Amino acid sequence: MKLAFAPPATSVLPIAGSDIHFPVHRIYCVGRNFADHAIEMGHDPTKEPPFFFQKNSDSLVRPERGFPYPGQSEDVHYEVELVIALHKGGSDIPVNRALECVFGYAVGLDMTRRDLQDVGKKMGRPWEVAKAFEDSAPCGRIQLAERIGHPSAGDIWLSVNGERRQSGDLNQMIWKVPEMISYLSKLFTLRPGDLIFAGTPAGVGPIKVGDDMVARIAGVDEISVKVL
Ligand code: MN
Repeated sequence: MKLAFAPPATSVLPIAGSDIHFPVHRIYCVGRNFADHAIEMGHDPTKEPPFFFQKNSDSLVRPERGFPYPGQSEDVHYEVELVIALHKGGSDIPVNRALECVFGYAVGLDMTRRDLQDVGKKMGRPWEVAKAFEDSAPCGRIQLAERIGHPSAGDIWLSVNGERRQSGDLNQMIWKVPEMISYLSKLFTLRPGDLIFAGTPAGVGPIKVGDDMVARIAGVDEISVKVL
């Protein structure tokens, strides 16, 4: 088949301890999956369950490249998240089979133009301009599940310039990893290469050019991202 022009390169993530790379298909993100973050955003987690939105596979950026402060916003926020990387997919995946789909885990940041998101929420508009912009998804290496297991508890935190800003525990996630995969697979056909950003704990806030963000999830990895 002849193509009219060369297609953009596939987005990939490195795999820890390997020279093989993980080709990324879609990026799903869970909103308000930690009760304390839902509350800080003005929502009642007992009445509003988590939900999904998407970023684009080319929204990914390697931590060492840094995060370029995007235009059209004066209130860009960090959100540290567990990233789930799938090597199997399907539809209607039962909860008790869901972990078979998981290839590994990484530490990611769901960078957000909070001011544009606030406008979107008020106007009932979609979130792409707030969430799916260039380099909006800094993400570390994938750690193989066969090596680290399936983390369901442990510290998740983010600091800015050495000061702790976000702090939580993976055991506070409202939807657990198997539930997220099963729920998503009822709405979409999951594919190998899909990533799920699993939601952020409380403490989100703004960054500015020159800031150094460090994000860590116990038992997974730590990433450092400079704001450019
Ligand atoms: Mn998020």
